[in-house]
Amino acid sequence: MSNVEATLMGRRLLILGPPGAGKGTQATVLCRAIGIPHISTGEMLRDHVARETALGRRAREIMESGDLVPDEIVIGMVEERIGQPDAACGFLLDGFPRTRAQAEALDEVLGDEGLDAVIVVEVAEDELVERILKRGRSDDTEEAVRNRLTVYHSQTAPLIEFYLGRGLVRSVDGVGAIEEVLARIVGVLGA
Ligand code: AMP
Repeated sequence: MSNVEATLMGRRLLILGPPGAGKGTQATVLCRAIGIPHISTGEMLRDHVARETALGRRAREIMESGDLVPDEIVIGMVEERIGQPDAACGFLLDGFPRTRAQAEALDEVLGDEGLDAVIVVEVAEDELVERILKRGRSDDTEEAVRNRLTVYHSQTAPLIEFYLGRGLVRSVDGVGAIEEVLARIVGVLGA
């Protein structure tokens, strides 16, 4: 894990995987190690909900049900965030894009340079539900969890094919200790 920062600085990364795969945890540690911003639409939305902004009031019920908030909301948030100066030195997107329309909007925002790699975190379905229910977040009711998995399979998982076609996908086994999974990610990124 030496020189992770030097090797991965400046990369534009995306972490993709089903809810409960540990994307948020891995994204947090990886971004700390590399020194790039962690751009999580889920975190941004939860912040709006907590501050009771107009956007937060619109998103709250949708999030509690496990559905996706409208594309234009998250696209606008990400566009604004990627435009900030710290993102010029690379970033890691977590939880965005989740739909084909979001992926196409991201292409437009990034232009010719595009993403450098898409980390796909793989965890078996049984393990996911167990992990999410242990996490105990307010949108983690059993019904919402089941819905989030359905939405993931129908809307987000097809993006793996989309990025496979571009040769960007780096898959890792998401089962194991945080450090183990992190080492696998760093390994597939070539650092
Ligand atoms: P997460 O923290 O990534 O699991 O996101 C929590 C919730 O926020 C999701 O279940 C969605 O309701 C909403 N959300 C987060 N990111 C997106 C996105 N890219 N598109 C639509 N909804 C999102």
